[in-house]
Amino acid sequence: MVFYILTRKCELLTTVIYSMWWALGFGWMLFTYDHHGTPLLFWLTLAFLATDVFFLALRIILYIFLSAAFCFCLPCIIVFMHYINSQERASEAEISSLPKYRYEVSNGDVGQPDNRACRMIPMGTNGQDFSTERVLRIENADCCICLCQYEDGEQLLLLPCDHHFHSTCIVKWLMLKATCPLCKVLVAPNE
Ligand SMILES: [Zn+2]
Ligand SMILES: [Zn+2]
Repeated sequence: MVFYILTRKCELLTTVIYSMWWALGFGWMLFTYDHHGTPLLFWLTLAFLATDVFFLALRIILYIFLSAAFCFCLPCIIVFMHYINSQERASEAEISSLPKYRYEVSNGDVGQPDNRACRMIPMGTNGQDFSTERVLRIENADCCICLCQYEDGEQLLLLPCDHHFHSTCIVKWLMLKATCPLCKVLVAPNE
């Protein structure tokens, strides 16, 4: 780490010295050097300097161009990404049209605790009738997003592919992506 910092400082120092030496040589060549004795050396040096100036100007123009492109294009990129994201996520209308259920557990028969009935009781959705009650096996009564077992009274949402989740879990998911997290089927019941 110390070696790295030392190297960076040396690099900066050599850059500064190089720049100063370059400016000094450039002024000396143009204004004070007597080139009548060695015209070839003069023109050769001038050609090297011209190449340096050319690449320096090119670098500055490139920086300005890239900075301008970044400043002007960034809002467009943000709008474009927002558009792409809005295409992928489910709309609020689509989410609210999914059938809601309340999870209910009724105790099993006396002496048979494993015989508990787990049911999804329809809660109704926007006046539409998704009214059939569903019976769940206890091993299927969990949410594959938060990996928790359903608790009595919790609200569930059923997707068109017949997969069900906690309402809060699947709504968060659908706000990002309009597909079932398990089978990738599109959630667009109105289409
Ligand atoms: Zn969940
Ligand atoms: Zn599914």
